[in-house]
Amino acid sequence: MQSNDEPEIGGSGGMGVEFRQLLDDSPVANYLCDAQGKLTYFNKAAVKLWGRTPTLGKEYWCGSWKMFYPDGKPMPLEEIPIAKVLKKGCREESSEIRIECPDGSLKFLLVFPKSIFGKEGGLQGVHSTLVDITDQKRDHIKKETLSAIVQSSDDAIVSKNLQGIIASWNRGAQEIFGYTEEEVVGRSITLLIPEDRLNEEDVILDKIKRGIKIDHFETIRKHKSGREIPVSITVSPVKDSGGNIVGASKVARDITARIESQAAMKKYIRNLETLNTVGKSISENLNVEGILQRVTDATTSLTGAAFGAFFYNNCDDKGNTFQLFTLSGAPREIFDHMAMPRHTDLFLPTFRDRKVVRIDDVTKHGDFAKNAPYNGMPKGHFSVVSYLAIPVISKNGNVIGGLLYGHPEAGKFTAEHELLVINIAAQAAVSLDNSKLFEQVKSLSEKKDEFIALASHELKTPLTTIKGYLQVLSKKKADKVSQLFLDKSLCQVDKLNTLVEDLLNMSRIESGQLNFNLEVFDIREMLKEIVETFSYSSQSHRVTATLWNDAVIIEGDKQRIEQAILNLMTNAIKYSPKADEIFVDLEVVGENMVVKVRDMGIGLTEEQQRQLFTRFYRAEDTQGISGLGLGLYLTKQIIDRHGGSIEVASEYGMGSEFSLILPLAVQKFKKVNAI
Ligand code: ADP
Repeated sequence: MQSNDEPEIGGSGGMGVEFRQLLDDSPVANYLCDAQGKLTYFNKAAVKLWGRTPTLGKEYWCGSWKMFYPDGKPMPLEEIPIAKVLKKGCREESSEIRIECPDGSLKFLLVFPKSIFGKEGGLQGVHSTLVDITDQKRDHIKKETLSAIVQSSDDAIVSKNLQGIIASWNRGAQEIFGYTEEEVVGRSITLLIPEDRLNEEDVILDKIKRGIKIDHFETIRKHKSGREIPVSITVSPVKDSGGNIVGASKVARDITARIESQAAMKKYIRNLETLNTVGKSISENLNVEGILQRVTDATTSLTGAAFGAFFYNNCDDKGNTFQLFTLSGAPREIFDHMAMPRHTDLFLPTFRDRKVVRIDDVTKHGDFAKNAPYNGMPKGHFSVVSYLAIPVISKNGNVIGGLLYGHPEAGKFTAEHELLVINIAAQAAVSLDNSKLFEQVKSLSEKKDEFIALASHELKTPLTTIKGYLQVLSKKKADKVSQLFLDKSLCQVDKLNTLVEDLLNMSRIESGQLNFNLEVFDIREMLKEIVETFSYSSQSHRVTATLWNDAVIIEGDKQRIEQAILNLMTNAIKYSPKADEIFVDLEVVGENMVVKVRDMGIGLTEEQQRQLFTRFYRAEDTQGISGLGLGLYLTKQIIDRHGGSIEVASEYGMGSEFSLILPLAVQKFKKVNAI
């Protein structure tokens, strides 16, 4: 019996015992077949190689039944070397085969079959020796694969010795650096290093000698043509079988595309940022000059132009000139001694026909460059070779002006620049339209303010005179009807006076001329008097007052504060036509006093409450109730300027409550002392 790990040996093959023992233990696989190819003997090494134990006397040709040519194609039975020998009756040359063992492993074998002849010379069988070359074969395949990988790599893979002399050079290296293998092998790697970076090689070699790998080092190397190439290199030490560092392998990747795309991305982000800030600043800016300067600066920087300018389109068909408005990148004096651009072929398309003009080399521009006397340019004009002009077109289709850019080198402006400027120009045009409108509205509004100030001032004098005469007349004895008419006239003159006074006050506020005469007084006393006067004068409403028990001292302009309270009370009565009572409260809350005026009138919607304090605002449902919409505006201005505030609480159709809040005088003094 054989042990489990000892392969079984089969047959004698007709050999003598001694010879057989020798073969049994031989490390080389051996087996025998008879003249019919039937297996008559195999040794331990053969069993190990086949990975199985064949059955003697039953199996033919070989102990393996899955055989292939070295390239992996299946090998037909008659092609098995031993079969061929038996068929030919002569010794076969050694041949290489591949077998698959029962466990699925593949082996490469060299087969040496040899015919065995009997004493009479007849063929008795075949002796075959099998040599396992799997390991060598694998090494060979590995090397071939590695070499194929190195060759097919797009990266440059180069090996060099410790003196920096190039030992191998792949296709990638040839493509990146332009040298063939023959041109560089045996030469120093410094061939690829720009002069100002030669010291890098010393540093690299020093590290390699110390066994240190250099990973993804980004630097510049030189192409055969002298062109510089940005590369990322990884250099690793190469060791011999004894572990000694004998050289270095270097993998270099051309990172031009990456650097370019990074730069493009950076540029793109920068452009976006500029676009964003320009867009924001031109939409926020309502001043024409500000918008145009911002646009000219930003687009000059975006296009990389040497100078950029905005020209107003002041030209008419008779040839009047365009007017320079803003300039960026060049001192304005340059244009001082120069005539403005004329009606030339270069400018007209932009200013007259709304065309974008982009020319790589304006000095070669057909008609324009021939223009006398200075090839299209005025004398002393700084050099413009690249030229870009974008019209700024108003909403109504008119060309407001043109953005012009120049650069002394050719081909500086791209389609991308053109698009960027067109976009900004479109935004600028909208803003310019808006700013024009704004300026118009502003000037109209200023004119209106001037008119109001003048008119109210002019009205004031005759009104005072009329009131004077009416007062004199009303003191004279008159019949009842005349007296009634006189009273009514006086009442209307008072109303007119209040209106004119409101208008005057508004003008004073707008022009910053509303002055206050500050004094310390008891607002409770003031309120008592107001309530009393109202109780006599108002025929329609009762005034119910709840006033603070103590004096409430504040500091302010007595007359203006009284005016503010009167406004609120008049409104409360005016806007509660169906009610017969209004309420006035005075209380002290913390460090403030609060005067509340409440009515049960028409009330206000939330939207109306928001607009209430703007001048000339009147709610939609005030028809039939006289007023200018100035009272609350003036009230708020007066209270704000006293460091107080005004609040409104109202429910539509139910009534309103207005609260005036002012700091108490004690509080004010405390603060002053504290400072
Ligand atoms: P005027 O009373 O001259 O119109 P105001 O500035 O005093 O101007 O008031 C502005 C508008 O606020 C009024 O036109 C009115 O629509 C609304 N308003 C003011 N007070 C009240 C109130 N107590 N109740 C309802 N609406 C009011």
